Amino acid sequence: MKKVALFPGSFDPFTKGHHDLVIRGLQLFDEIIIAVGYNTSKQRYFSIEDTVASITTLFSSNRSVQVISYNSLTVDLAKKHNIRYLLRGLRNTVDFEFEKAIARMNQKLYLELETVFLLTSLEYESISSTIVREIHKSGGDISQFIPS
Ligand code: ADP
Repeated sequence: MKKVALFPGSFDPFTKGHHDLVIRGLQLFDEIIIAVGYNTSKQRYFSIEDTVASITTLFSSNRSVQVISYNSLTVDLAKKHNIRYLLRGLRNTVDFEFEKAIARMNQKLYLELETVFLLTSLEYESISSTIVREIHKSGGDISQFIPS
């Protein structure tokens, strides 16, 4: 059976750190579905449509990567597609505590769901979508932080 992982996130915007996680995740999974979510507690800066379009273009030559958007609970999306694995990244202990809480709650909602964490590659550890957005808002050049 094909091993499929869901990589959910806001991706506002999709950074080199996210890209690296997908590439490395493909060594573990046959297919990765990048799911751009509407996060109710975060007002988006880049639109969902633009975000999905740019990530789709980025992986257009890679048939193992799909890009979708969703506005349901992540566990419900995983159940709907019969997906057993979530892929998430860890940059630091703050991410760890946050991700641990979400993963435990998700598993309560969907028992068979395993969250697989990859540590961020050192060179991308300090890239955060929040800071990239702030730079863009202030007219700065964000090209070194996002995949070309
Ligand atoms: P969310 O709003 O769900 O936290 P993000 O788009 O901020 O969505 O992040 C999605 C996932 O990518 C999270 O697991 C996060 O820890 C991870 N991530 C964020 N930035 C990086 C990075 N620079 N390197 C690797 N993983 C990252």
